Amino acid sequence: MPSSTILVTTISELRAASRAARLRGKTIGLVPTMGALHAGHLSLVEAARKECDEVVVSVFVNPTQFAPHEDFARYPRDLDADRALLAPLGPLTVFAPSALEMYPPGYQTSVTVGDVSQAWEGAIRPTHFAGVATVVLKLFTACEPDAAYFGQKDFQQLRVIERMTADLNLGLRIHACPIVRDPEGLAMSSRNRYLSPTERERGLALFRALAIAGEMVARGEHTCSELNAAMRDVLSAADLEIDYAVVVDRETLEPLTRLDRPAVAIVAARVGKTRLIDNRRLDPPAL
Ligand code: AMP
Repeated sequence: MPSSTILVTTISELRAASRAARLRGKTIGLVPTMGALHAGHLSLVEAARKECDEVVVSVFVNPTQFAPHEDFARYPRDLDADRALLAPLGPLTVFAPSALEMYPPGYQTSVTVGDVSQAWEGAIRPTHFAGVATVVLKLFTACEPDAAYFGQKDFQQLRVIERMTADLNLGLRIHACPIVRDPEGLAMSSRNRYLSPTERERGLALFRALAIAGEMVARGEHTCSELNAAMRDVLSAADLEIDYAVVVDRETLEPLTRLDRPAVAIVAARVGKTRLIDNRRLDPPAL
């Protein structure tokens, strides 16, 4: 087992280690993950490493953010492989609790974030963000970090966590990290390993759809219905089942009519049984 990751499995142990580090004057960065780590996750760890004295990477496949029909049971789990990937970035702490440690018997509290969690992912996965917000809050209270690191890949999740952190005065910094893509443009995701080679090829349509929206904006197109339609065309041409493909306000995630403020194009589509999401920032024309 690599020596530069320390495995912690209980909340009390993690909290004690964090508080001891804090007493030594150290800052702590937390990177929440569900494991099956890839270069996207590692970029978050590197960002934490740069800014914080101590880094905690949580690896927990959180049951409460999966609906019964989703892929919780088959979600990839390999803690040894994850630790091996993290070892070169160490020393760091890997927090890998059991489901029972995180959700003891009788557990009945959850966190619901308002408007920003309702549309898009929230509409398609109605219980998802309550599960995410709850587990992230529990990770925050277990670790008591100075900063936590999230990927812009899950853009709505990032906004939900920022909202919760502000609304509940959690007093830590949320750091948003850029999307890491494979050389062809597919956003890295633990779920990409479900894809067959042909599905992977079709999945590249998400990146292409976003790229075309970006090109249209660069050519002066600012009508969002046109941008949305162009993205849908690309996704349909690859025979993907579209959940949404839409230009939204970058803060509130409300759909836009015109690109007259900072925006983000968000797309979600299914390739066979696998659901992929991606997004790209779109800037309004300079005034
Ligand atoms: P997950 O393990 O899928 O729950 O993801 C854990 C964290 O890694 C989340 O903050 C994700 O947004 C982030 N993440 C996942 N994939 C990427 C990626 N391709 N680029 C950047 N961050 C990512």
